[in-house]
Amino acid sequence: MKKNDCIFCKIANGEIPSKTLYEDEEFRMILDLNPATKGHALILPKDHADDLYGLSDGQASKIMLLAKKMAVKMTEKLQCDGLNLIQNNGEAAGQTVRHFHLHLIPRYTDDGQQLGWKPGETTQEELEEVRKQITG
Ligand code: 5GP
Ligand code: ZN
Repeated sequence: MKKNDCIFCKIANGEIPSKTLYEDEEFRMILDLNPATKGHALILPKDHADDLYGLSDGQASKIMLLAKKMAVKMTEKLQCDGLNLIQNNGEAAGQTVRHFHLHLIPRYTDDGQQLGWKPGETTQEELEEVRKQITG
């Protein structure tokens, strides 16, 4: 189902034109308008889901398979040196468009991008507490 006033629903379903790298019944993969690097692309489901939590198991598995296939193709065609998969859920995680999308960001040696996080510190006790919190 499409969601009214969702820009990625419109792009995914072809109502707004985009630079499409791949399309099938369920997904469209497009070039990002503000690319972090050359070839920065997004996989969008045609059915609206706000984020990862809203995907069906079927969608989630197909998206990862598509990401793998396209990562191989992009690496071959763009001759990039690496590639990041990034997927943000919620404002706190940096999600700016509330329609699920998976970023494929080709990386080039010395491309100047800094994607990532500042490594923190912890203890074995804290790690054990978190482990219990998640698995308990
Ligand atoms: P987020 O921060 O939500 O994970 O990423 C949103 C991404 O969507 C950004 O990289 C941004 O450049 C891209 N974006 C936003 N609006 C448009 C658009 O209208 N067309 C395309 N192709 N990309 C968009
Ligand atoms: Zn949408």
